[in-house]
Amino acid sequence: MARFELLFAGYVTPGVASTVSYVEDGDIRVVVDPGMVPDRAVILDPLRALGAESSSITDVVFSHHHPDHTLHAALFENAQFHDHWAIYQGDRWTDRPAEGFRVSPDVQLIETPGHTLQDITTLVTTPSGVVACTHLWWNGDIEGDPRATNPELLGLNRERVKSLANVIVPGHGAPFEI
Ligand SMILES: [Zn+2]
Ligand SMILES: [Zn+2]
Repeated sequence: MARFELLFAGYVTPGVASTVSYVEDGDIRVVVDPGMVPDRAVILDPLRALGAESSSITDVVFSHHHPDHTLHAALFENAQFHDHWAIYQGDRWTDRPAEGFRVSPDVQLIETPGHTLQDITTLVTTPSGVVACTHLWWNGDIEGDPRATNPELLGLNRERVKSLANVIVPGHGAPFEI
C-alpha cells in the first residue's frame, strides 16, 4: 500500500498557499500540487527528511490548473506531470483521460469537476484507509466554494469522494476526516 505524507498545509489568508502532499508507492514517488508556498524550502526540506530528493520524484499531480497549485512544478526535473487530460514530460504530451488512471497500484486519479471543470482528485490507498487529495474543499472550515465554476457538480463530486475516501486533503488546509 502507499504511504501518504503531508508536506505543507496551505491557507488562504494572509496570502495564499497550496496544500502540498507526498505519496510513495514502491518505486513511485509522487508530489501533489506543488503550488504557491512562502518558500520552496517548505516543500523540499520535508521531502528530504523523508528520504526523497527533488530529482527522485517520478510523478507530479495537478489537482487543477490554477497557479496557486502549479507554480513550483519545475522543482521536479525528472517527473512526469498529470492533469485531467494528459501526461506531460519534456516535450511529450500524452493524451489520456484521468478518470480511473493509476499513477501506481495504490494511487488513482478520478475526474471531479466543480471548482474548475479541469479538477481531478488523487485517491491514495494507505494501510489506514483512503486519502483523497482534492480541491473540492478549500479547507475543513469553509463550507462551500465561493469561486466554484459549477457549484452543482462540486456538490455531486463531494458526495462521490466522500463515498470513496476517509480523509480529505483539501486545497488550502490541513487534512480532515469525513
Ligand atoms: Zn483553484
Ligand atoms: Zn486553490
